[in-house]
Amino acid sequence: MLRVESISFAYGRQPALREVSLKVQPGEVVSLLGMNGAGKTTLLGVISGMLRPKGGRVTFENRQISGLAPSAVVEAGVVQVPEGRQLFGPLSVRENLELGSYVRLRKRQHKEVARDLERSLALFPVLAQRLEQPAGTLSGGEQQMLAMARGLMARPRLLLLDEPSLGLAPKVAAEILGVVRDLPAQGCSVLLVEQNALGALSVSQRGYIITGGRIRQSGSPQEILADELLREAFLGPR
Ligand code: ATP
Repeated sequence: MLRVESISFAYGRQPALREVSLKVQPGEVVSLLGMNGAGKTTLLGVISGMLRPKGGRVTFENRQISGLAPSAVVEAGVVQVPEGRQLFGPLSVRENLELGSYVRLRKRQHKEVARDLERSLALFPVLAQRLEQPAGTLSGGEQQMLAMARGLMARPRLLLLDEPSLGLAPKVAAEILGVVRDLPAQGCSVLLVEQNALGALSVSQRGYIITGGRIRQSGSPQEILADELLREAFLGPR
């Protein structure tokens, strides 16, 4: 459903992605693993239309999305949940969630938005108890849940998640990854960027390792875990 084909990207003269290819099939959670600076966030930026690639193309459901504006990529069904969550702290949880469905609100589809809100809250019941609270007063884990729930309000068929477990206590991280595992059953595939390789692979059908802007390895979680490259990607060469 998502095909990234031979994508290259540079910040000025500094290459950040070199002919990166990967795919996500319907019903899959796929992890993209690598250290700081490997190019993971840059790749998500290219897929979501925030960054223009220098070469290659991205297609989603057989339609080219590279070159589209970010809002058109969202309308095509691909939503990114950014690293650091980027919530509006002074706004309430409810208002943050409603921002995720601006397309439907603009079309005055209030009933649909109410249904989406219900679905999002069913995945993260703790948010239902905090709807009128300012988002900035939530715990780190709750803020991550809110960022994901906001992304789901746009009814994506593919969610791009940038380090959802970053900085969270292991128990909270596990809870969030548990929701990620269940998203395909709700009709939403996932491309999961993580430094937490073990956690990510435990909820994924496949994974890729990226270092220095290149995909070095791909395979099942078992294959990736058994690979010397995984150790190298995270600890550097022996
Ligand atoms: P992290 O988890 O730290 O975000 P990452 O794997 O997502 O790591 P990227 O953020 O994609 O990595 O960065 C890839 C490379 O591009 C790095 O060398 C980084 O320094 C560089 N880079 C990222 N953003 C910019 C920018 N806005 N301007 C210049 N160089 C950048």
